[in-house]
Amino acid sequence: MNDRLPDQYREILSSIGENPEREGLRDTPKRAAKAMQYLCNGYGKSLETVVNGALFSSSSDEMVIVQDIELYSLCEHHLLPFIGKAHVAYIPTGKVLGLSKIARIVDMYARRLQIQENLTRQIAEAIQEVTCAAGVAVVIEAKHMCMMMRGVEKQNSVMNTSVMLGAFRESSTTRQEFLQLIGRHK
Ligand code: ZN
Repeated sequence: MNDRLPDQYREILSSIGENPEREGLRDTPKRAAKAMQYLCNGYGKSLETVVNGALFSSSSDEMVIVQDIELYSLCEHHLLPFIGKAHVAYIPTGKVLGLSKIARIVDMYARRLQIQENLTRQIAEAIQEVTCAAGVAVVIEAKHMCMMMRGVEKQNSVMNTSVMLGAFRESSTTRQEFLQLIGRHK
């Protein structure tokens, strides 16, 4: 951890009118620094180390879907959480990714300061790059604390973003199949 971070949190506590020396807050700067570092641990990871060779040969060219991947991120505008789910699909062309790796790729990008649109695209492009898939689709639905707790205070609005690459972009049948499977097709 950057050793200045706890002191910087102590300053924030003073700046918002708190007394950082009172009992309940005494260890807060240290704890907050540790938490923030954890929430941003995606900066210390790369696609290569996350995937770590977990690519396997396969003759399947059927759509692979991982649904309901829990997602926790911080918005880069307010440093407030946005939380939700990611749905990821790809169409393999000879190589499949280890099952847990898709969730780990989602995590690596989510544990950085983000906007949801960029996060969605980064996940899609990473999976494309690693698998050389014929197509990749990523849908993210998330609630943003910066909307719920402040500003417009809209408690129930969910933001949806999607990125479709390759076959998911070119073929509406493939896209519809994916959306139907994740329950998003009206
Ligand atoms: Zn925000």
